[in-house]
Amino acid sequence: MKLVEPIIAFQSELQLIRRDLHAHPELCYEEQRTSDVVAARLADWGIPVVRGLGITGVVGILKKGNSSRAIGLRADMDALPMHEVNSFAHASVHPGKMHACGHDGHTAMLLGAAHHLVTQGNFDGTVYLIFQPAEEGGAGARRMIGDGLFERFPMEAVYGMHNWPGMAEGSFGVVAGPMMASSNEFKLVVRGKGAHAAQPHKGVDPVMLAVQIAQGWQTIISREKSPLDTAVLSITQIHGGSATNVIPDEAVMIGTVRTFTTPVLDLIQQRMEEIATHTAAAHRASVDFTFKRNYPPLVNHAEQTALAVQAMQAVAGAERVDANVEPTMGAEDFAFMLQAKPGCYVFIGNGEGSHREGGHGLGPCQLHNASYDFNDNLLPIGASYWVRLAEMSLPAA
Ligand SMILES: [Zn+2]
Ligand SMILES: [Zn+2]
Repeated sequence: MKLVEPIIAFQSELQLIRRDLHAHPELCYEEQRTSDVVAARLADWGIPVVRGLGITGVVGILKKGNSSRAIGLRADMDALPMHEVNSFAHASVHPGKMHACGHDGHTAMLLGAAHHLVTQGNFDGTVYLIFQPAEEGGAGARRMIGDGLFERFPMEAVYGMHNWPGMAEGSFGVVAGPMMASSNEFKLVVRGKGAHAAQPHKGVDPVMLAVQIAQGWQTIISREKSPLDTAVLSITQIHGGSATNVIPDEAVMIGTVRTFTTPVLDLIQQRMEEIATHTAAAHRASVDFTFKRNYPPLVNHAEQTALAVQAMQAVAGAERVDANVEPTMGAEDFAFMLQAKPGCYVFIGNGEGSHREGGHGLGPCQLHNASYDFNDNLLPIGASYWVRLAEMSLPAA
């Protein structure tokens, strides 16, 4: 490890910040205290702050030298609506809310970078420090963009980072191109005609049709899209009927679709609707089909990914950087920022869980697990990556 030396000396302070945020988790668009903490720290360090983008979002403006060039570094701030089972000293004081995705650590790492960059950073241009609300389902990135993030703070590229349990502590992973999937949800209502179960010919059975449509949909995955394209179609709920001897009027299917590209998503959505509509029509039924696109695919840009790899290697050494990491079908709303600007999103290894002290509940140290905790050993590593990335992006003469 070649960490930025002064950040190592600042680690205990970063750990205090991180654990304070962990103890006070706030949900989507409610990050009032969190954004107060962030804004107060930045102001203490002499960094101008703009607040209110995406309701609770914070942007720090860190300018040095004369260059008009600029980049953005983004951290997410929100927690999850789940109950923490950890009993260590910094466990959540808000029942039913928990930092189980490590956004407390992401926020602290970006603050660590800000502190170093303003005091000793060697760069020429502007680093926008983007503290984003509502990553967990609230599309806070889209909201900040809608509130003028990239018009008010023009930048040539934007970067994000997420801790990744199971990857070795302080190692990095990234891949150019699609790295995380689009996340979408659908609901199908099949409208038939109820009847006595012993007289099916007097009705139109929506349950049988739901089964046929479900099977037809899976042929989109196996027969219609290219086998080289990755996609998932999971039906996670089927509802219908209330008795053993009654054919109901309706059946409902709900689920999720994940893809790495928009054209594949377009194909799946269109064919799901066609198969459902025509299968139902063939059997004298009708359907209501709704399809909601939540987060788009997260696609890393090649040039910025190459730069990010250099910055990660400068911190962790080439042997600890996987520049061809396996993509995941999970989703992340930083994807909206990468649709608007070139940039790159990376994983930083959160370790196997061996960093954990006493007081954790049972269960693995996985994201969205009730006994998860961010690995504080990453604080200087992630902050050092941000510093090196900023200095490489905006080199001083
Ligand atoms: Zn999460
Ligand atoms: Zn997360």
